[in-house]
Amino acid sequence: MGKRKKSARKPGPSRGKDPLDTTFTCLFCHHDNSVTVRVDRKEGVANLVCKVCDQRYQSKVTHLTEAVDIYSEWIDAADAAEKARDRPSRAGASSSIRPVAAPASVDDSDDD
Ligand SMILES: [Zn+2]
Repeated sequence: MGKRKKSARKPGPSRGKDPLDTTFTCLFCHHDNSVTVRVDRKEGVANLVCKVCDQRYQSKVTHLTEAVDIYSEWIDAADAAEKARDRPSRAGASSSIRPVAAPASVDDSDDD
């Protein structure tokens, strides 16, 4: 708490020094560079967190995954979540779909 951080402001988008920490604009609170994506290739996971509104997202990564991929995944996930929330669920019974085990073409019905 109350620890003042002396952060030297970098003039201009000079990236390339630390590729593991990448910041983006938050979808939810819209703060610039509040979202940090940390790609941990050793663990095979990436952690995305917004330091302003504390949104979090975690995903698996491969050696090809970039921070921006996690960011766009997060956008997709947030988008999907919003759409799901937006959609009125029928009869309010979500996730209770009973798989009907219908016998597929058992036998020809013996007429008579
Ligand atoms: Zn945020």
